[in-house]
Amino acid sequence: MMPERSESDSRKLLRRLRDSLAVSGEGQDRLDRITHLIADSMGTEVCSIYLFRDRETLELCSTHGLNKESVHQTRMRLGEGLVGRVARTARAVNTGNAPAEKGFRFMPETGEEIYSSFLGVPIQRVGERLGVLVVQSKSTRQYSEDEVYALEVVAMVLAEMTELGVFLGEGDALSALHKQPILFRGAIGQEGSCEGNVWLHEPRVVVTNPVADDPLTEIDRIRAAVGELRVSVDDLLTSEGLDKEQKQVLEAYRMFAHSRGWLKRMEEDIQRGLSAEAAVEKEQSTARARMQQVPDAYLRERLNDLDDLSNRLLRILTGQGRDTGADMPENPVLVARNIGPGELLEYGRKLRGVVLEEGSVGSHAAIVARALAIPLVIHAHSISSEALNGDHILVDGDQGIAHLRPDEAVASAFLDKMAMAAQAQERYHSLRGLPAQSQCGATTRLMMNAGLMADLPSLEGSGAEGVGLFRTELQFLVRNHMPKRSELAKLYARVIDASNDLPVAFRTLDIGSDKVLPYMKPQDEPNPAMGWRAIRVGLDKPGVLRMQLQALLRAANGRPLNIMFPFISEFREFQMARSYLLREVHREASLGHKVSTDLKVGAMLETPSLAYAPDAFFELADFISIGGNDLKQFFFAADRENELVRKRYDTLDLSFIRFLKNIVARCAKINTPLSFCGEDAGRPTEALCLAALGINTLSMRPASIGPIKHLLRRANLEDVRDIIASVEASQGDTLRPALNDYIASLPKV
Ligand code: PEP
Ligand code: MG
Repeated sequence: MMPERSESDSRKLLRRLRDSLAVSGEGQDRLDRITHLIADSMGTEVCSIYLFRDRETLELCSTHGLNKESVHQTRMRLGEGLVGRVARTARAVNTGNAPAEKGFRFMPETGEEIYSSFLGVPIQRVGERLGVLVVQSKSTRQYSEDEVYALEVVAMVLAEMTELGVFLGEGDALSALHKQPILFRGAIGQEGSCEGNVWLHEPRVVVTNPVADDPLTEIDRIRAAVGELRVSVDDLLTSEGLDKEQKQVLEAYRMFAHSRGWLKRMEEDIQRGLSAEAAVEKEQSTARARMQQVPDAYLRERLNDLDDLSNRLLRILTGQGRDTGADMPENPVLVARNIGPGELLEYGRKLRGVVLEEGSVGSHAAIVARALAIPLVIHAHSISSEALNGDHILVDGDQGIAHLRPDEAVASAFLDKMAMAAQAQERYHSLRGLPAQSQCGATTRLMMNAGLMADLPSLEGSGAEGVGLFRTELQFLVRNHMPKRSELAKLYARVIDASNDLPVAFRTLDIGSDKVLPYMKPQDEPNPAMGWRAIRVGLDKPGVLRMQLQALLRAANGRPLNIMFPFISEFREFQMARSYLLREVHREASLGHKVSTDLKVGAMLETPSLAYAPDAFFELADFISIGGNDLKQFFFAADRENELVRKRYDTLDLSFIRFLKNIVARCAKINTPLSFCGEDAGRPTEALCLAALGINTLSMRPASIGPIKHLLRRANLEDVRDIIASVEASQGDTLRPALNDYIASLPKV
């Protein structure tokens, strides 16, 4: 417990603050009243408020004690001087001798040289940095712990008020939080553009009453809410079907919920004058600030637990947050820190686009966004704390950019670009029934990648000549239980029905790596992408593989069927997988089920080793599909999910092209049909090159079929081969510039 005197002091200060804010007035007047009031209450000569002008710059917005002329003139960068240091580290700086502090920078226009002591605390709201609150005195004294604490509590209330827009003046002189246009430069998750309105996956709770009159009532409220929270967490632990590891994680979570220290700290904040909600937020802010600085992944996870518990507690206290009954805006664009594939699928086709703070291109959410054909921007840092429900947003998935609350000029340029893209789509639509025949007469078969029922309408709409890759794991990922054979058989039958006799290549389960089934025990592997995944799991524990093969055979019910095995690294694995399939064929036949007489068994070539398998492999495989996403990551030893290295190596690098040529030659020698189904098949320059190399089946996301067909029809693959040969002869390293020049030289229609 804090000493009684300081408790009542800070309570008095908070109450004065609240009353002062209740009086109407311009934003600037209000800020000035506050700085005066804080200086007066704390007995300091100076009190100043610095707010973020943009994400990198702080501006002196009000002061009691410093030169008034410097207000809105004095600015500093994040990290600059003591104020900048408080903002950057989100930690208080308390010193009796400011000029002697490392990094001190004196702002002559403010007249602050006569003040020796300095106490600055961050103004922040659940990890969102809004500014810095400073008090200064002439005497060389260090502020007491109680004073630091009191100023932090005041800063917390200021943060809430800032959030509520209390300081926004008529002329918008002050930083207009959640009002200004902001550009988020993230990374490409899925191409395409859209215009829409923000829909927050986890809407934030808005605390409207940071200051409370009656601490006893607030303490009762927080105790009741924590009690409710504890019961719900205990219930989670007793739910059925939890394995040992899940229980361990929940135990840690439960420990936090039952932590006496947590509740005690919040009660102390309430004693100081905060409302129950504001006390929760204060703890949450501290945890978030710590989270950003803790390098240890385990500790960060635990702080994350605390963050999550605080959110739950706020929802209990306010009744706000998720499931508030708020209406989804028109053209919703989902904004979230991160999202799982199942949750994303629940929103389904309602969404126009998705913007995430985290995520990766190879993640499940990205695969689902691709399947739903909606643009996805990932790594848009802090967008979920910046955006409010209903905010206007433009998503540029082609460049990995999101414009939040764009100004008119940006919005109109963006809409022009979208209109042009729509015109191009129209043009592609008219090519739907035409073959991808190049000027030299060669035809490339364009197929689509799929994995969800939602993909099937695209088969007709895109003009795809079949499904070159059906990722069956998506059906496993979107459930929270292992699907039954009958369930799968029904689903695969619907896929075959919808394909209208066009071929569908079903790829058996490719789990492991980043695709972890929620109901399967995760393997603790140091390097999951090169670990126990895909066919390796299928061969070592064949139960699920066999069930899936049975479901596929039942679904085909005598119709033609194409099955391919993922991640085959050696001939023996293909032989084993194929013999499992043949065993199931015999079993099905012996049970009296119809079996397909046109059964093709293929392999995905995703590891360099398979390119050097014996001829017997190329003879036995009915077809081979290059999984370029994996093949490229293993060829260059560059993790496809690691943004730091993902783009470092180019598919059109001649070393990779020579490698692909070798695969083409080996297949050609034996007449083994070869296709390419990685993401590169849907990228124009890459697709042109692959077709010219002789890979005459390309499988891609449906939205790419139109543009690729349009390009291939205008191009002459013989010319492309000449270009490849000449770059090779000139000892070049990449084909990209030469091929881009060639594409630019083609007639536009
Ligand atoms: C690939 O690796 O290129 C591929 C198509 O498989 P996935 O992306 O599902 O790993
Ligand atoms: Mg793969």
